[in-house]
Amino acid sequence: MRRSKIVLIGCGAVGSTFAYTVMLKELAHELVLIDHNKDKAEGDALDLNHGLMLAGPMLIRAGDYSDCAGADIIVIAAGAAQRPGETRIDLMHRNVAIFDAIIKQVTEHNNDGILLIASNPVDILTQVALKLSGWPGHRVIGSGTLLDSSRFRYLIGQRLRVDPRSIHGMIIGEHGDSEVPVWSSMNVAGVVPEACGPEGGRWCLDDLDKQTIFDETRNAAYQIISKKGATSYAIALALARICEAILRDQHSILPVSTYLDDYHGVSGLYMGVPSVLGRHGVEEVVRLPLTTREAELFKQSAEKLQLFLTTIGF
Ligand code: NAD
Repeated sequence: MRRSKIVLIGCGAVGSTFAYTVMLKELAHELVLIDHNKDKAEGDALDLNHGLMLAGPMLIRAGDYSDCAGADIIVIAAGAAQRPGETRIDLMHRNVAIFDAIIKQVTEHNNDGILLIASNPVDILTQVALKLSGWPGHRVIGSGTLLDSSRFRYLIGQRLRVDPRSIHGMIIGEHGDSEVPVWSSMNVAGVVPEACGPEGGRWCLDDLDKQTIFDETRNAAYQIISKKGATSYAIALALARICEAILRDQHSILPVSTYLDDYHGVSGLYMGVPSVLGRHGVEEVVRLPLTTREAELFKQSAEKLQLFLTTIGF
């Protein structure tokens, strides 16, 4: 088997949980950890190495940007936290400056890997990474709405009492408040839930159920952050799933943030849509049929992202 290498930049709550997930899933031969807090990267590497006897053989170490050479995937989970009183736009400017420094150093050592962005706002920062790297769009990917879709399917699964893996359904658009649930193609093993009649029904979902499920999906991050300060496990699994699809050339269809070219009328923007992922990154974007209302909401989500990009001068 071909040797595989992942470089992780940013070993905070998201990054270090991702590193642990990569180790448990034995996703790559080599994992290099980079953080501007060197002690954190070194501490994580030591801690993970001490579990290798109980997991499986892998080379895990702290490193620097020269280690990006030969990396198949460079995952970026670095980011500045919002300061008290700081606006989202000011935070955005700081994150763009961080990305500017990071991407310059990555591309000094690697020009044929895949950039996978987790840092928020993920659709915007993936677009920033595209511009700064000069890499082709299929090799610059954001985690997009994969996490949101996983939350969505979990909540539908809870309501219908089935395994979320048996549910097909996606959230598309911005990873954020303007995201769009695609109820029109949601199904359970091919069964499209209908509105509940007076008798109810095994597979029914009424409008209130749908609204509750979507509200809980959209507000999940706020809820978790208010309780534990950060989200980490599910996003780490989402990032690991994307890496798995790429490194194992699985051609899996996942809703990642992808550069759009006339997707329901949206072009030149990164948004979460179902995409075929394989060894070369995004191989194809899947055109999901949308109702007029869903297409309208998707367009509004795009307009919001475009406004944000214009405000920060991109
Ligand atoms: P965190 O504050 O715990 O970690 C951020 C890490 O980045 C820190 O270890 C910090 O030292 C490091 N860092 C900062 N600037 C750096 C630089 N210039 N170079 C290298 N490292 C640098 O934050 P977190 O909770 O791990 O979240 C990380 C990012 O992921 C945030 O932007 C967060 O909003 C985002 N996030 C995205 C999703 C998603 O679905 N895409 C989900 C959760 C979190």
